[in-house]
Amino acid sequence: MKAAVFEQPGKPLVIGERDAPRIAENEMLLRVKYCGICGTDIHASREGPFMAPPGTVFGHEFAGEIVEIGSGVSSNQFEIGERVTSLPFIGDQTIGLGDVDGGYAEFVKVDHQQAVKLPDTIDDVLGALVEPMAVGLHSVKMADTVAGKKVLIVGAGPIGLACAIWCRFFGADKVVFSEFSATRIRIAETIGFSEFINPEKDVGEEFRSLAGAEPDVQFECVGAPGMLQSCIERAPPRGLVMGIGVCDSPDSITPLLAFMKELRIQWAVGYDKVDFEFTIKMMTQGRLEPMPMVTDIISLEEVPVFFEQLRQPSSQCKVLIDLMR
Ligand SMILES: [Zn+2]
Repeated sequence: MKAAVFEQPGKPLVIGERDAPRIAENEMLLRVKYCGICGTDIHASREGPFMAPPGTVFGHEFAGEIVEIGSGVSSNQFEIGERVTSLPFIGDQTIGLGDVDGGYAEFVKVDHQQAVKLPDTIDDVLGALVEPMAVGLHSVKMADTVAGKKVLIVGAGPIGLACAIWCRFFGADKVVFSEFSATRIRIAETIGFSEFINPEKDVGEEFRSLAGAEPDVQFECVGAPGMLQSCIERAPPRGLVMGIGVCDSPDSITPLLAFMKELRIQWAVGYDKVDFEFTIKMMTQGRLEPMPMVTDIISLEEVPVFFEQLRQPSSQCKVLIDLMR
């Protein structure tokens, strides 16, 4: 099968031939329809503690059609031809980050217990957005409650947008973004958000003038050094700072400031299967509309070029690979 392969940091992905995955009895083989390129993949292709092993096929945000079913999967659970997405886990291994080949390929294998069916009302493009939306859902659930709260979303990338959509869903009083990119602001506007702060300004001050108070909850979705300290500085007493962006370098904060305000800092990563199921249910009911965040749908051959472009701030938001092209 054709796949985009990570060979080494500093070198673009390479399109090559790869053996299709062999499934174990609890596994299923999917013909991949769409797979999202995630910031995590970009991150894992860089030198550092989070780097994936050479030879990795990335891709953990996929939707596809079942083409083979392991002997241990009972026939009343799944059928050939059914459309599914899946949590990217097989036992303690992760799909698309080194352990198991991911969805930047014609086929991907999944654990049948992690697979979730896609109803007819959810097309394959939307199916590939279930994973990033589930990340946002899990993050917002980890914030306990956002209902009635004034929320600042730092960074309007796919995960910032997903968090914002769920904050609105769960009744946040205000959802304001701090974001540079005109494209991402436009996307957030299409999804129905209207309040934005230029990060070059005094974000705390700007938030106060928009919302009339400090942000009760801040979702830090950038993950660059210094972001956490800025959140601590602008938080009100007993405010909540959610660490969603991945920062893998040492960063410094002034604990006294957080201490004096009795702040909570809560980290969130990943999701549970219920988050996939709830996301799909809400998509089916038309209560989630993440499609505007898709800026590009590309072929597998285009992946190396787009993957390099995504390393820099660009006009792209969520890029999906169409594996049927
Ligand atoms: Zn992802």
